[in-house]
Amino acid sequence: MSRYIIHTFGCQMNKHDSERMAGLLQTHGYMPAVSDADADVIIFNTCAVRETADDRLYGQVASLKALKTGGRPEVIIAVGGCVGQRDGERMLQHLPHVDVVFGTHNIHELPSLIDAAAYGRSVARVLEGTETFASDLPTVREHAWHAWVPINVGCDNHCAYCIVPTVRGPERSRVFEDVVTEVAALVAEGVIEVTLLGQNVNSYGRDRYGQPRFAELLHAVAATGIPRIRFATSHPKDLSDDTIRALAELPALMPYLHLPVQHGSNAVLAAMNRRYTRETYLDRIERLRAAVPDITLSTDIIVGFPGETDADFEQTLDLYDRVAFDHAFTFIYSSREGTPAAALTTTVPREISQQRFDRLAARVRDLSFESNRRVVGRTQECLVEGASRKDRHVLSARTPHNRLVHVPVPEGRTAGAYAGTLQMIRVTGAHPWFLTGELDNDAV
Ligand code: SF4
Repeated sequence: MSRYIIHTFGCQMNKHDSERMAGLLQTHGYMPAVSDADADVIIFNTCAVRETADDRLYGQVASLKALKTGGRPEVIIAVGGCVGQRDGERMLQHLPHVDVVFGTHNIHELPSLIDAAAYGRSVARVLEGTETFASDLPTVREHAWHAWVPINVGCDNHCAYCIVPTVRGPERSRVFEDVVTEVAALVAEGVIEVTLLGQNVNSYGRDRYGQPRFAELLHAVAATGIPRIRFATSHPKDLSDDTIRALAELPALMPYLHLPVQHGSNAVLAAMNRRYTRETYLDRIERLRAAVPDITLSTDIIVGFPGETDADFEQTLDLYDRVAFDHAFTFIYSSREGTPAAALTTTVPREISQQRFDRLAARVRDLSFESNRRVVGRTQECLVEGASRKDRHVLSARTPHNRLVHVPVPEGRTAGAYAGTLQMIRVTGAHPWFLTGELDNDAV
């Protein structure tokens, strides 16, 4: 029986797509492999959003040439996802040892493309779009207790720096009843937490006239009895008062929101085509905090966008302090081929971007540490994800506010016994990026 391995880069949508690839391959008789050395098919599910992920991918795929020339010519190398969609046939020219290139709209064709490659035919097949919502495909979930549930794909926003509208296509919402039925089935299977996924979940339903919008979907999903709901990602301009009310009213909705601001200067936000101002963003935050006072907030910030001045950057630091974010994912701008911003010539020198980035990163660390210190002594119901990556005697769990907490595995127990369970955990210590705690009510 043939074995496959999937290397996943990038966002949660890609993680979910990889679960669908695994589901498809297993229904076609493939088994998972433990490493490249053990695999007959090696798949890269790629991300084109950041230059680093793109470079890493090309490096990793290039290094597999040795595997094929060093005695295993039959191994099939397939590249899918956003880089596959963007580069298509070009990838086969750059990396001739790649056998299959596929895009974001034709995951369902993966088994037949692999079959074609097995007969010695390198194949690049990328569709411009699809009417099918690919979540109809079988899925092998990474965890029994958690499921990604796509609710919309693609994006109509065209932020100047972003390749997503090109590689994922226009926004398409999934049928309301299909989402709710899927979550109800997941509840019956014992799933504890779902993450509703989309490039912009807040605009769910906008493309389907008369269909319920995101807040109504949240209410319907909560009514299935699923214990925990998270969602990603939200565009600030589409975060409605109804969604804010849902966050306040639905106990299953976790008190955490990732709301990418990207920049603190109105001039840069306009150049990015984000279609909100710092004032409207701050207004959203005020409304959120009025409705859910202890909500944790994280964001994405880009430093060094073309034309960014020192004064613009100071506005980012100022906004960061005003919101007092609990966490942020920070990036130095990198030009992406195929985006409107790639044509901008007012680039910020790398050393200036780096200095600004370092200042912001220090601020992010300080505020994250402060945020974590505030919850020491609190006991909360946390979802245990399993053993910590670094130490199998330590459990990793998530608080409702999405803070990572490490807890020693009780004497005589294994981490596996706790994976996917809800446990009362008392926070005993804070670090900048995680908490430490102890089980308060050992229910296993
Ligand atoms: S909202 Fe902007 S950043 Fe997000 S996926 Fe759409 S274009 Fe990209």
